[in-house]
Amino acid sequence: MTGLGSGLCGEHFVAGRAERGTGEVFAAGDPHSGQALEPQYAEASADQIDRACAAAEAAKLPFLATEPALRARLLRTIADGLVALGDELVQRVMAETALPQARVLNERGRTCNQLQQFAALLEDGSWVDARIDHADGKRPGLPKPDLRRMLQALGPVAVFGASNFPLAYSVAGGDTASALAAGCPVVCKGHPAHPGTSELVGRVITEAVRTLGLPAGTFSLVHGRSEATGGRLVLNPAIAAVGFTGSHRGGRALMDLAAGRPEPIPVFAEMGSVNPVFVLPRALQARGVQIAEQLAGSATLAQGQFCTSPGMVLWPAGEGAEAFANKLRDKLAAASAGPAVHATIRSGYERTLEEVKQLPVTVAATGSGASADATAVCPMLLSATAAAVLQNPRLRTEIYGPAVLAVPGGSRDELLAIARSLHGHLTATVHGDGDDFVEFAELLTVLRSKVGRLIANGVPTGVEVCPSMVHGGPYPAATDARFSAVGATAILRWVRPVCWQDWPHDLLPAELRDDNPRGIRRMVDGVVA
Ligand code: NAP
Repeated sequence: MTGLGSGLCGEHFVAGRAERGTGEVFAAGDPHSGQALEPQYAEASADQIDRACAAAEAAKLPFLATEPALRARLLRTIADGLVALGDELVQRVMAETALPQARVLNERGRTCNQLQQFAALLEDGSWVDARIDHADGKRPGLPKPDLRRMLQALGPVAVFGASNFPLAYSVAGGDTASALAAGCPVVCKGHPAHPGTSELVGRVITEAVRTLGLPAGTFSLVHGRSEATGGRLVLNPAIAAVGFTGSHRGGRALMDLAAGRPEPIPVFAEMGSVNPVFVLPRALQARGVQIAEQLAGSATLAQGQFCTSPGMVLWPAGEGAEAFANKLRDKLAAASAGPAVHATIRSGYERTLEEVKQLPVTVAATGSGASADATAVCPMLLSATAAAVLQNPRLRTEIYGPAVLAVPGGSRDELLAIARSLHGHLTATVHGDGDDFVEFAELLTVLRSKVGRLIANGVPTGVEVCPSMVHGGPYPAATDARFSAVGATAILRWVRPVCWQDWPHDLLPAELRDDNPRGIRRMVDGVVA
């Protein structure tokens, strides 16, 4: 047996040791019944957080020095371990989140795929972006030194998972996978809405670290639901960077804490987004009804609990506008209420709707069917004029849940003005046919400056995991628009460039030696080879 126990014991994993917390006790809730789920979890103590961070600091240099192939094995072992948990994991995720089985299986597949993709990246090796500029002792004037640079791990990363992706953006999600791939130890704070899922996954990672003989501090998992727990983690001097997925309030709080440290550190927070959708005249006329159906499906998928959920739909007056509006209204009215992943999302949704309803909006449709679920949220279509959206910034911020704000009848100038008034978003979608894209070229240019991903004639939900994906965007969608939280480039958040000048050749990292023993792609004297 593993020595780490099995099943659910309410355990934290602090540098390879399974322990119980000592703070306030909490439990996951069943979103259907509202009942607490066994076991109970006790909040991590200050001592546990500090020991996890100290162990991560102790692991920093040995883990940095590991062969990429070993880190690739770690990631593949974790992926295999998640699959090996089989139904136990799937059932626990379903119990804690009310997400349907097909979605959980799909998310597990995605999580494993992310781990496998980072393993493949390490095996290829070229991601370190090695550059070599040979010395030129004969250069007239000042001789040129030998300079070689590559990317290197920052050090221990604190990871905060989101509640709506209990696998793909949680304990073994993209942040953990990319940080471990980079060579950074991880201290993860599990989301308090799915502690059982976190414990099962945390045990798999802890086992993988031990089996491969890696330093125990390579990974720790602490549970907690007090802001003080996450705050203490971010303030620990061992932590070199933070990966966060969740609300704007949470991401901003952690970013401010990190900036106030004696040694400030980067916080890569992926937060909420409205993901505006613009339907242009020719598309509206030719296929408005079809677009409305697609959009309603995207907005109500998983009760709207996606950061990429389309929260605002704008279209001009003209042919097809009425049919589009009617279809959108009918589809939202026909969409059923269903459970949110935890009670706080329901209360937040209802509170936000109440706030927004004080503004100049009308309720165009309310979803159908009373739901007996304890955390039920009901789809809603709100409507506001373009002028109201321009005058009320609150209408341009996220309503997290299955709500859509319709903005019908805006002139070309109004649509453009709204686009200009937007803060940063993860995505923007444009439906257009033929000359729509010529006529609204300026809109496209504005949107390009506001988002991480521009979608033509589609829906924003569904984030492909591949090297060209950008999942991020200008603030407040993310805290650093230069990076993506999804895809191979997510690893770049956890590294920095280091340059070796005139260094003895046999002491250089393998990636920088002249004989290129890893066979990686590099830039040598300005030429990529
Ligand atoms: P959340 O409530 O912000 O929780 C995320 C994590 O941050 C939890 O572990 C939470 O722990 C912690 N946290 C929150 N505020 C904190 C604070 N002030 N100090 C310390 N820790 C704090 O978010 P959520 O409910 O899981 O997710 C919903 C939001 O996430 C939505 O806005 C959605 O759009 C966004 N989201 C974004 C992405 C993306 O990739 N951009 C993906 C998924 C979801 P506690 O609960 O213990 O405070």
